[in-house]
Amino acid sequence: MEEKKNINRREFLKRLTMVSGAAAATMFLDPVTSVAKTVMSDPKQDNTDNKMTYRVNRNTNDSVSLLGFGMMRLPNENKIINQNAVNRMVDYAIAHGVNYFDTAPVYHGGKSETATGIALKRHDRKKFFVATKLSNFDKKTWTREASEKMYHDSFKNLQVDVIDYYLLHSIGGNGTNELNERFVDNGMMDFLVNERKAGRIRNLGFSYHGDVKVFDQFLSMHKKYHWDFVQIQMNYVDWRHASITKNDWGGDADGDAEYLYNKLTKMNIPVVIMEPLRGGRLANVPQDVAQDLKQRRPNDSIASWAFRWCGSYPNVLTALSGMSKMEDLQDNIKSYSPLEPCTDSENALLAAAADKIGGYPTIPCTQCNYCMPCPFGVEIPKNFAYYNEQIDKRIIPLPDKSAKDYAERADLFKDGFHKTLKLEEDATKCRDCGICLSKCPQKIRIPNQLQRIKEILNA
Ligand code: SF4
Ligand code: SF4
Repeated sequence: MEEKKNINRREFLKRLTMVSGAAAATMFLDPVTSVAKTVMSDPKQDNTDNKMTYRVNRNTNDSVSLLGFGMMRLPNENKIINQNAVNRMVDYAIAHGVNYFDTAPVYHGGKSETATGIALKRHDRKKFFVATKLSNFDKKTWTREASEKMYHDSFKNLQVDVIDYYLLHSIGGNGTNELNERFVDNGMMDFLVNERKAGRIRNLGFSYHGDVKVFDQFLSMHKKYHWDFVQIQMNYVDWRHASITKNDWGGDADGDAEYLYNKLTKMNIPVVIMEPLRGGRLANVPQDVAQDLKQRRPNDSIASWAFRWCGSYPNVLTALSGMSKMEDLQDNIKSYSPLEPCTDSENALLAAAADKIGGYPTIPCTQCNYCMPCPFGVEIPKNFAYYNEQIDKRIIPLPDKSAKDYAERADLFKDGFHKTLKLEEDATKCRDCGICLSKCPQKIRIPNQLQRIKEILNA
């Protein structure tokens, strides 16, 4: 096991050294060979302050803003969406050139589509593209009737007649059988293809969370279904991060962003990026990494590096950011208004940053919330966020018990933990029922990782 771990780690580090060159090579591809071409402003936008960079989807000629608004982490109080705050953010986004809004029936316990619809309805329909998904995760929704209902409900909730980008939500994690069971055997794929023919769906694609083998199997169906776009997880750490997931967290996810992106580019399929900040982790990098990045570009936020890195790849149609605060929206807009592609030396710096971040044994949780709710009340993402924060601060992993600072660090961890998490939501409430396991797109063995937290609490 240890040997496998080391080999994979070596492989990861070896690959990281290649990032800079590979990224630069991809970045300077002749635009003719890439699907999307960059335009500096959308001719349809009448706002002269708009400096947003756009990518042209050659399938439809859509000029899509490089920043996409992910509607999965909307401002809320006690899980109730603050519609006024959403409206304000959507207004600001549209005024500054953002025109791609991505939601799903499962976000915010089913309330995101409605909130998105209310906010967007106040704008000229020609000013935005809306993306939503068939989130038929639950076996009860695998029937044709239930899946079709979910599809039709999206139109009602979003208050639109046409969905610009429609995705099979989160496929790949359970192999090709999942595609058959959720979409093919129940006739939904044929239905959706017909809906595209009828013009109610403009682009049909899928969001992917699986290994490269299953990805190839899905892409081999391109001739039959014609995937207009594909959404993948891509950021400067995940570009080579498959081995980290496999090694440290015992997951079986082997999604290799570099492979997925290059394969889609070769097939002329535009790429939508999810998790450019890896669930917010790349906005709050460890201190030593932050120092390196700040030294190079003192006026730029840490998050802007991750956005610029993603945007530098020409086949990226849009990079989604799930924003809860106006400041984050403003900062993300700035990163792409206009895009300043990463230089060779900046790519090298990010490769080194990824190397350092990869050396921190954090849990690769993207805070997507798909594992929730836990029947025993455990706030899984909140526990993992706290654990990762303590790793970044070098409080954990705890040193050997004989170390001078062992007790001090263990106490710091425990004090902060009890201040951050309520008793009823903390890791100790996990009963190892396994219900959350199949829901995690990152394939994290959730109860095992919660056990790590329990062990520190008992230290
Ligand atoms: S395994 Fe633990 S965290 Fe997951 S659903 Fe069961 S009790 Fe909750
Ligand atoms: S544990 Fe997995 S499913 Fe749960 S929030 Fe994290 S990444 Fe998402």
